[in-house]
Amino acid sequence: RAASEGRRWMTYDPAELEDAEWKMSLLARLDQAVERDEIWVAYQPKIEMATGRIIGAEALARWRHPDKGEVPPSQFIPAAERSGRIENLTAHILDSAVAATASIHRAGHGDFSIAVNLSARLLDSPGLLRMVHETLARHRLAPHHLILEITETTAMASQDGIVETLEALSASGVRLSIDDYGTGFSTLDYLKRIPADEIKIDRSFVSMLEKSQSDRIMVHSTIQLAHSLGRKTVAEGVENAVVLNELRLMQCDYVQGYHTGKPMELSALVKQLSKKETE
Ligand code: C2E
Ligand code: CA
Ligand code: CA
Ligand code: CA
Repeated sequence: RAASEGRRWMTYDPAELEDAEWKMSLLARLDQAVERDEIWVAYQPKIEMATGRIIGAEALARWRHPDKGEVPPSQFIPAAERSGRIENLTAHILDSAVAATASIHRAGHGDFSIAVNLSARLLDSPGLLRMVHETLARHRLAPHHLILEITETTAMASQDGIVETLEALSASGVRLSIDDYGTGFSTLDYLKRIPADEIKIDRSFVSMLEKSQSDRIMVHSTIQLAHSLGRKTVAEGVENAVVLNELRLMQCDYVQGYHTGKPMELSALVKQLSKKETE
């Protein structure tokens, strides 16, 4: 870097500067990353508690950067949201995930469903419904095999326009899941407004089930509330058998976590699916 530039930045904390530079360089490469196929999707199995079967997966974005190695989504999703690149990125991830699901169906697992994370910003985007429906049509996947995850904070803050978008998605058969449930300090009235099929209890509560009585109460009452509203429940971040068993006693419908399956490449997921079938 030129010396004059160095002086200009001198008052900044070097670590902060490095961080800012890193983010800038990541952002600059993000558009090309999609074109160059550096963005790929990891699939984390979602297990049905009653049967132990893999009934679906969550699509999690990954960036295989040629110089930096694997960049986690926490380092590029927020930047993509701020810079207007999230629509493009999500279109790409959705396309990969829906294509993968269609191929899983052709391999004989016709009830497999896929969950894709949706940024708050996209719910404002006029092109969202079309993008979702075109992607499903392109791969001939029925809408009810797609679950869109929106965070509780998004669901809570949703104004009329967004509720309309969610209603249109739901009316077309796409399912909706409220992600990171419990982190929003919310009143519960939004649950009535949002046509959610599923409530996904945040990892921060699930991981504390063993040790914390208050988290146990929180999780148990969430499951009961969801069931009384006719919604399914998913627990995320299940890391061991003790927690899994607690959730079973609480009649949680689905689980996800390192204990039942880490995020993995599509080929590994397909292997697991056919292994489970022959067991
Ligand atoms: P999330 O949607 O809450 O996803 C769950 C995160 O928890 C994932 O991290 C997953 O790898 C991790 N995880 C799963 N099971 C366990 C467990 O047992 N223990 C622990 N400690 N962690 C577990 P990941 O893949 O790094 O994703 C982080 C966040 O990035 C996601 O949180 C989501 O908010 C966002 N994200 C990922 N992919 C996308 C995407 O395609 N679009 C959007 N908008 N956001 C995405
Ligand atoms: Ca999620
Ligand atoms: Ca989550
Ligand atoms: Ca989260």
